[in-house]
Amino acid sequence: MIVAVRMRPLSKKEIEREEFEIIRVMDKKLVILMDPLELLNAKGTLGRNRSKEKQYAFDFAFDQDTPQKEIFENTTRHLVEGILEGYNATVFAYGATGAGKTYTMLGTESNPGNMFLTLQELFIKLKEQKNNYNYDIRVSFLEIYNEMIRDLIVVSDEVLDLREDKDKGITVAGLSEVEVDSPQDVMELLFFGNQNRTQEATGANETSSRSHAILQIIVEAKDKASGTTAEIAVGKLSLIDLAGSERAAKTNNRGIRMIEGANINRSLLSLGNCINALVDNMKKGSKNHIPYRDSKLTRLLKDSLGGNSRTVMIANISPGNDSYEDTHNTLKYANRAKNI
Ligand code: ADP
Ligand code: MG
Repeated sequence: MIVAVRMRPLSKKEIEREEFEIIRVMDKKLVILMDPLELLNAKGTLGRNRSKEKQYAFDFAFDQDTPQKEIFENTTRHLVEGILEGYNATVFAYGATGAGKTYTMLGTESNPGNMFLTLQELFIKLKEQKNNYNYDIRVSFLEIYNEMIRDLIVVSDEVLDLREDKDKGITVAGLSEVEVDSPQDVMELLFFGNQNRTQEATGANETSSRSHAILQIIVEAKDKASGTTAEIAVGKLSLIDLAGSERAAKTNNRGIRMIEGANINRSLLSLGNCINALVDNMKKGSKNHIPYRDSKLTRLLKDSLGGNSRTVMIANISPGNDSYEDTHNTLKYANRAKNI
């Protein structure tokens, strides 16, 4: 798994509250987390107590000035080639609510994120292909909220079911798949879909914090001459804006542990458990059963997580001192995932 950490800038609100930065990003690989209390103590004195700092190394560490394009080029872009060769792949944006997941995956219309940039790259790549195939690009966009799957493209209250099909693998029955031909098609669809995500009733600004939004891009080859679907492997890329991690998982050095209680997000926990099991299998050569069946998210990703599938995790963090605990948990989670 490629694991990247992205730090967003301090927000206006955080600056107004006089929050200060507790994160330093170095060499595009290192993240240093400082203890807020230590930083306060060190004010006005020489140097800080380095023993209270925690340092993590990742494949990439992006600071607050890193443009969307650079994030894409270092992370998700590597997967596009593989999709055309028939591999499945998954990209997760992980992190607490407000840390920048949606900005990273969807972005804004003037500053589009990974989802748009991936499709744009696919259109370019397919134009370059000189072979006997025409490619169709289809996308679906769904939400998992409270373990219920809903279509984000065709608005309805209908809850959709997962099916395991012998030939097609895992599918969502009744989910719409839309053929896309241009980046403009995609832009509209993505922002429309994102608006349809379930909003939290609590806290007017805290939208979508418990919903996972999943864009799946399916590339299918058709024989130019006959127009029939060709017998070549075709891949699926899942781009996922995960629910906020703040209430779901705490990590310790033995891995991700469950928090009991009403607020657990089953899919997020289950993803953590699958990652733990995959890590153990890689590290110790054990043959753990991977508990894909425990949640909707992990069932959906069964053929796109582990095995031959490539995975990228972009862990999003806020730089401010008030976010210390969330940031620390996110860094530990991401650090663990490196071993897959
Ligand atoms: P999340 O989806 O994790 O809850 P958002 O992506 O909505 O968080 O980000 C919270 C706020 O911070 C938004 O207003 C967003 O525009 C802003 N933001 C997030 N990341 C960045 C970034 N890298 N650069 C500038 N603004 C950002
Ligand atoms: Mg969001």
